[in-house]
Amino acid sequence: MKSDTQTREYIDYMNRQGVTTIDYVANSPRRFGATWKKRDVNGIIGMCYHQALGNTNVDQTIRYQIGSNSHFKNKPPSGCYTGFVSKNGTYYIINNLRDRTWSQGTTKTPGDENALYFAVCFQGAFTYPNMDSWSKGICKEPSAAQLKAASGIWLKSQEYFKWDNGMLLGHYHFGKRACPGTELEKIVEHYRSLAPAGLATFELSTLKGMQRALESLGYNPGPADGIMGVKTQTAIKNFQEDCGITVDGIPGPNTRRRLEIIYNKGKC
Ligand SMILES: [Zn+2]
Repeated sequence: MKSDTQTREYIDYMNRQGVTTIDYVANSPRRFGATWKKRDVNGIIGMCYHQALGNTNVDQTIRYQIGSNSHFKNKPPSGCYTGFVSKNGTYYIINNLRDRTWSQGTTKTPGDENALYFAVCFQGAFTYPNMDSWSKGICKEPSAAQLKAASGIWLKSQEYFKWDNGMLLGHYHFGKRACPGTELEKIVEHYRSLAPAGLATFELSTLKGMQRALESLGYNPGPADGIMGVKTQTAIKNFQEDCGITVDGIPGPNTRRRLEIIYNKGKC
């Protein structure tokens, strides 16, 4: 992103490239009167795909999912997406990227909103192995139009933003294993498999390399300087927690192995 006015330009670009889009101004109120820092759009580094889970009504879902919303008082918005893809494949994009969106990377680190992802949510609840029990029985696969849109949105967005294929992620990379579901995960992994080899070659034997890997996953470890500071330790703890391993903030073999797995297989 080059400036905060470029959402409009991005929408126009997507339209010119043959991707159907409708821009949308989210007007859901900020819950609890909470305020969040404006996003620095220059810091957006990639795209992250999600599923909407139980929501079915397009208008309500967009109003809920796009905008500065939150389930929790004094916490970052839990549902706040930049784009939304309805069942018929229409891609809705928020008009004001800077004022109305929150990052979708780590959710545990307020202040990390400046360097994370352009989040796109797909309407519906999709299957995933080991799905949370509450969502069993309501899940269906994405529509053919959504799967087509998922590829088109990525290909055209990466062209516009100059992202490499490694910068397409699924929410499961950040610890939510059911999101965005089996079929969309296949698309994410397909494009990630086309990424330059360099993506998977972080020097994970060094702290500096681990810091770079954590940074690329959105864990905000601070500068890659090989020094174990507070930010790096917090990033490691958040990563460990998301992976379900011992949370001790120590960049040991188990944590290194998890980073390797994410870069080789795309999941914890
Ligand atoms: Zn998600």
